Amino acid sequence: MLAPSATTAPRPEEQPPCAADRHLPSHRITVDNAGVQQSRCRRCGCELRRLPTLRRWYRSGLMG
Ligand SMILES: [Zn+2]
Repeated sequence: MLAPSATTAPRPEEQPPCAADRHLPSHRITVDNAGVQQSRCRRCGCELRRLPTLRRWYRSGLMG
């Protein structure tokens, strides 16, 4: 018997990367007046920002 491959099955993750503050910034990155890069997480959709001196994305609270 051939069972249909269900590709829409959700993949349970015990600890999503976003919960560990590891977000996946989108390719659309905008630069603020202060040189702060802003993007949006592709997984959870939260606002991200990165300082030019830092090489890590941080969540930007509830702004925007
Ligand atoms: Zn995220």
